[in-house]
Amino acid sequence: MLDRLQAQSPDALLALIKLYAADPRPDKVDLGVGVYRTGQGDTPVFAAIKAAERKLVDEQDSKAYLGPEGDMGFVEALMPYIFGAEDPSMGGRVQGMQTPGGTGAVRLAVALARAAGIRRVFMGTPSWPNHAQILADLPLDMVAFDHDNDDGTANVDAVLAAIANAQEGDAILLHGCCHNPTGIDYTPEQWDAIAAALATSKALPIIDVAYQGLGHGMEEDAYGLRKVLASVPEALIAYSCDKNFGLYRDRVGAFYVMAKEPGQLDAIMSNAASLARANWSMPPDHGGAAVRLILTDPALTTMWLDELDTMRARMRQVRDRLAAAGTAGAVDMTPLGIQNGLFSMLPLSKEQIATLRSEHAIYMAGSGRINVAGLTSGNIDKFIDAVAAVSA
Ligand code: PMP
Repeated sequence: MLDRLQAQSPDALLALIKLYAADPRPDKVDLGVGVYRTGQGDTPVFAAIKAAERKLVDEQDSKAYLGPEGDMGFVEALMPYIFGAEDPSMGGRVQGMQTPGGTGAVRLAVALARAAGIRRVFMGTPSWPNHAQILADLPLDMVAFDHDNDDGTANVDAVLAAIANAQEGDAILLHGCCHNPTGIDYTPEQWDAIAAALATSKALPIIDVAYQGLGHGMEEDAYGLRKVLASVPEALIAYSCDKNFGLYRDRVGAFYVMAKEPGQLDAIMSNAASLARANWSMPPDHGGAAVRLILTDPALTTMWLDELDTMRARMRQVRDRLAAAGTAGAVDMTPLGIQNGLFSMLPLSKEQIATLRSEHAIYMAGSGRINVAGLTSGNIDKFIDAVAAVSA
């Protein structure tokens, strides 16, 4: 039976990690893996997380099952950051549950949309590759539109056209901020136009927020999401804490529904709970519990927000430096200055990317995506020179 299975192509980024690890050159540069790095190239555990984990070890008195919804204290403590401190439940219309990472939240959002009768999902491309994989796995049809223009800005006409074309049974998947892989976010004015278009569209918005706080700030990065939610009757939200709390392997995420009426939430969430049970039963507890302890302790909250500010400032510094370089060979670096988050795309060919690796020990995804946090004051000049050399 199992011999019927065809070999699947390995995850390209995981293959890159192995190549990087095996490279003996001391000045090698890893721009592939999607984790934040300090100026020293490390991905440390946040001090706020360490403090919360100590508290958790001291205070947690049971590891008995919690249920498919996970740690509801965690789910609710996040809501003011996502939906706004003024009315975090949006008049009782928002409810959520914990998920295994943002991936679990995306999976649950699209599975629930499918259960509700959604058949097609409009999505800007390029996108995080797992979006298409999850849609194919359910299955749901994907209708692609161009996320970006060649000049490094968002293609707002394409998203508006997609929204205008959407019919009953369609959803649209949008990145809330810090678009992966392009770093190209809609401007506030573009979000205003998107929200206005969604207000009269049949498309169900599914908004994936995986990098809140890594772009311009926790509040600023919620602008698009909140604008859309204020304009539409219902929406699904997938959230990841794996980047903004540095919890990657602990798999911390949440899924939220904004319903038309508070009275609909019980039925909707019972469907979400049932899908979660069939997929993973319950989310892992540890990371979510640590986030809850941070968000319910003002001193730890301040510590976390300060660490997040430091991360964001460092990525901004790298982006400013790249933008200030202007062009590197044939590559215009200036758009990277207005892009957000961990990622940007460089218009390099497969051959140029391979040469960066073989001749300059610079490792980046075959798509041209770079993790800007992989650049430091020690390697950024080398990187700019190498891009100039391969693209000249
Ligand atoms: N959505 C997007 C756009 C992402 O980039 C990622 C992570 N790379 C996720 C969701 C999933 O994040 P997590 O690691 O929390 O599963």
